[in-house]
Amino acid sequence: MDNSPSHFAENDLIGVLTTQPLDRVLDYRAPEGGCFLGAFVEVPLGPRKVLGVVWGPGRGDFDAAKIRQVLRVLEAAPMRDEMRTFLERAGAYTLTPMSAMLRLATRAPGLGDPPSMRKVYRLGTGRPDRETDARRRVIAVLQQLGGLSLTQRELAEEAGVTPSVIKGLVKQGVLQEEDTARDTPFPGLDPGYGGKDLTEDQHDAAARLRAGIAAGGYGTTLLKGVTGSGKTEVYLEAVAECLGRGRQALVLLPEIALTAEFLTRVQARFGARPAEWHSGVTMTERRRVWRMVGQGGAQMVIGARSALFLPFRDLGLIVVDEEHDTSYKQEEGVLYNARDMAVLRASILGARVVLASATPSLESWANAEAGKYDRVDLTARFGPAVLPEMRTIDMRAEKLPAARWISPTLQAAVTARLEKGEQSLLFLNRRGYAPVTVCRACGHQIGCDHCDARMVEHRFLKRLVCHQCGETRPMPTACPHCQAEDRLAPVGPGVERLAEETQALFPEARVATLSSDLFGSARALREQIEAIAAGGADIIIGTQLVAKGHNFPLLTLVGVIDADLGLQGSDLRAAERTFQLMRQVAGRAGRSERKGLALLQTCQPDHPVIRAILSGDEEGFWQAEAAERQAAGVPPYGRMAGIILSSTEVQDVFDLGNALARHDGPLRRIGAQVFGPAPAPIARVRGRHRVRLLVKADKGAPLQQALADWIRPFPLKGQLRLAIDIDPQSF
Ligand code: ADP
Ligand code: ZN
Repeated sequence: MDNSPSHFAENDLIGVLTTQPLDRVLDYRAPEGGCFLGAFVEVPLGPRKVLGVVWGPGRGDFDAAKIRQVLRVLEAAPMRDEMRTFLERAGAYTLTPMSAMLRLATRAPGLGDPPSMRKVYRLGTGRPDRETDARRRVIAVLQQLGGLSLTQRELAEEAGVTPSVIKGLVKQGVLQEEDTARDTPFPGLDPGYGGKDLTEDQHDAAARLRAGIAAGGYGTTLLKGVTGSGKTEVYLEAVAECLGRGRQALVLLPEIALTAEFLTRVQARFGARPAEWHSGVTMTERRRVWRMVGQGGAQMVIGARSALFLPFRDLGLIVVDEEHDTSYKQEEGVLYNARDMAVLRASILGARVVLASATPSLESWANAEAGKYDRVDLTARFGPAVLPEMRTIDMRAEKLPAARWISPTLQAAVTARLEKGEQSLLFLNRRGYAPVTVCRACGHQIGCDHCDARMVEHRFLKRLVCHQCGETRPMPTACPHCQAEDRLAPVGPGVERLAEETQALFPEARVATLSSDLFGSARALREQIEAIAAGGADIIIGTQLVAKGHNFPLLTLVGVIDADLGLQGSDLRAAERTFQLMRQVAGRAGRSERKGLALLQTCQPDHPVIRAILSGDEEGFWQAEAAERQAAGVPPYGRMAGIILSSTEVQDVFDLGNALARHDGPLRRIGAQVFGPAPAPIARVRGRHRVRLLVKADKGAPLQQALADWIRPFPLKGQLRLAIDIDPQSF
């Protein structure tokens, strides 16, 4: 790429990478007036017009007479060299076709459209003739924004009102309507605004991060700090340093539900709200963010993993918050881990990365041990808050009637909290009412027709839901197998059933259930979380959703209903996952003055992982885990890839799987081993049968090249699909 010219004259032969699934860059002639290397262009392809990027000089191996001309250049600024390098390296690492990589980098609608006008609303001087709840909410939303304006749709969504409420307020002059150009810059962030007085530890940690940014160039720091130690405050200081130097910052969060609370904190720290990028952002706003990031009109972006592919003008810092979180791994389409891609992009850019977590991934811990990452620790909670005490409840010794999951010991602890007016959290990582529905007449368990999974009863929805494919059907009254009426029974607990038990045990208590499926919108969920934080519930029942980041000051007790849940199965990462999840959940307790307690219900209190969770000897736990992984030769001490084959025809997947396993020459040449084919962790999804092969290689082996050579000779016939998963989440 380095030797290619950066500008092509009209009719020069150029190579254009398009978003169409073709296996090569296509030759075109440069458009009238020429174009730059990296230009976003529209090109003819058969009868269609498609999006592409000028990737280099043409190859000249097409019939010259048939080569067509680029139709037009879409954006004023071309894609930067750094971004093209990033897409190529990320594509090569994940073995993803470049067309798919380019799609990730062009996920803004209307590329090439001129900036158009839109109506926005701000507070006017009039007073409403009549005050209603809806009207008050609209006014409150705009007041909170302090002078910023919103489109009708954003305002209606944000305030939870219909557009007619807004129109009514405009008529009365309470709101003012204005035309503005779309794609306006984001309000400026002031690095000197609203900084907190840091504790000595926090100050030292922030100074280390600031020094890294001041030094310039690439570097990654693992910021490890117990929950509530002020990691966020500390990395916002790194953001401040970066912004102060005129460079942009990106903060990745694992969960959209955390964005609102985070935006408020950023506003308090920098005096204005940054840009947002995730699936909840409107299309027009996305295009604005995409353009402003490229032009420097957005200093900071808060986003989901796909924000890594935004065309930043001068990105100086990427923060990956809760870096251990599994949701950073994209499991559909392009299979990539945003944490690893953040490090790759920063190394190409010469930018810094901060990986923040209370319970880092073993990968990051090992990289810090090996000296590849810098490591900064925060060991104490901020202010009077101390870490919660942790104890187990041995379920073998507790007397529990059938279909009850709250032990007498846990019940007593909750009662004590209720008496003191404190909150308790009961944690169960299972959505729905019951994981299994069985017929008491014939023993049949209701399964999904399309997947190898049981249907989960969701009583709140009055439906059965498949958690694999999302298929739902009304809750039947008769067994679908033997047709017996009224003999279907729930088996095992989900959060809805636990909420029922809780309400029965504590009839006076206000019980709130937090599970992603119980909320129609992100706003409803946010309101519920805010209400709980303000004391609007006594007992919170929650899934994984509550383990992440939320701050409930009145919460002093965490009860884990089934600490053994994650330890079943043969996954080598199970220990790490359980350790992280349990420490994370326990960390929700006692985040203010009152001391917290975490109780873990378990049938194996002597299990080494449970013991490590209790003792809090994290370094010891990691050392032991590392030794085990090292002995097994698996990540982070060896390399792995999963090959997932799927088809509607079960025979086809096994035939191909067996053929691959037999012809493993390219793998053997690099000393790699192949295991399988075996049914994938979920053997059938959406009617497609899935098998998996696992490939294991030494740390330094050229795995990607060998995989490509191995797979190339096998054409995919009919319904067969093959997906390569580098660094799989489970092995
Ligand atoms: P973490 O990200 O490690 O969980 P946070 O940064 O969210 O920790 O801090 C926990 C709480 O303590 C937050 O409410 C935060 O605003 C507060 N806090 C942390 N450090 C300070 C400080 N130096 N001054 C004032 N408040 C602080
Ligand atoms: Zn299904």
